[in-house]
Amino acid sequence: TTLLEFKQVSKQYGSDTKALTDVNFAVKEGEFVSIIGPSGAGKSTLLRCINRMIDASNGEIIFNGASILGIKKRELKRLRTQMGMVFQHYNLVNRLSVIENVLHGRLGYKSTLEGVLGLYSKEEKNQAYAILKTLGLEGQVYKRCDQLSGGQKQRVGIARALVQNPKVLLCDEPIASLDPNASKVIMDLLRNISTNMGITVIVNLHQVDTALKYSDRILGVNKGTIVYNGTPAGIDNEQ
Ligand code: ADP
Ligand code: ADP
Repeated sequence: TTLLEFKQVSKQYGSDTKALTDVNFAVKEGEFVSIIGPSGAGKSTLLRCINRMIDASNGEIIFNGASILGIKKRELKRLRTQMGMVFQHYNLVNRLSVIENVLHGRLGYKSTLEGVLGLYSKEEKNQAYAILKTLGLEGQVYKRCDQLSGGQKQRVGIARALVQNPKVLLCDEPIASLDPNASKVIMDLLRNISTNMGITVIVNLHQVDTALKYSDRILGVNKGTIVYNGTPAGIDNEQ
């Protein structure tokens, strides 16, 4: 079944920057889709239109059977709990502990005070702990995030996204700040999350070889339009 659909989506910044023009594609439930293309192609804009961090200028975006454009604030908040976002620069609160950062995903960063663990139920804490363990962070649970390596920080970012039980992970250049070893760990985890948890993964990448290796499908973006939509094998054939 289709989870996400873009129909003739365009995004213009200001009066002259057309970041996306008439973008059409669909993503199936559980699919692992990579968006590739040069810097400035519109990858980040496209990804951020999905959870409305950026509002599309024109067109229609359907998620889970319903239009996400023009919905009310409360509905948007609910929608965003179904969409975990993972960032290049992790976007963690560095002075808080790992588990506090993960639990804050639930609160939507309403509170960034220290010592807020008491706000959470034992069940919530157990769930966060279980996810951290799955991601190999059981030894880091109470460390401050600024004491972690880049690869560990990104795993915390993924844990924060997963704790909300999302339908989709939106990952914006998740390995662009990591060395090759940490990159492999993160990509393997994202692939597992798609294959074993059935969560749809949409990931912006500028490394074409990584996209070819991990994806079910690839969207090639250039100058704000989709220039490729197909399997990794299909790209090899074109080259
Ligand atoms: P990518 O992620 O592929 O590097 P982006 O989506 O970040 O591409 O950018 C697409 C185009 O939109 C670029 O020309 C970029 O300069 C422009 N752009 C992105 N964000 C903004 C913004 N907030 N205001 C104006 N122009 C922007
Ligand atoms: P990666 O896992 O991607 O290889 P790095 O080891 O390069 O990540 O670390 C990323 C950042 O985290 C660097 O700025 C580094 O200085 C910092 N860092 C790594 N380990 C520690 C640590 N134990 N204490 C404090 N900062 C650290």
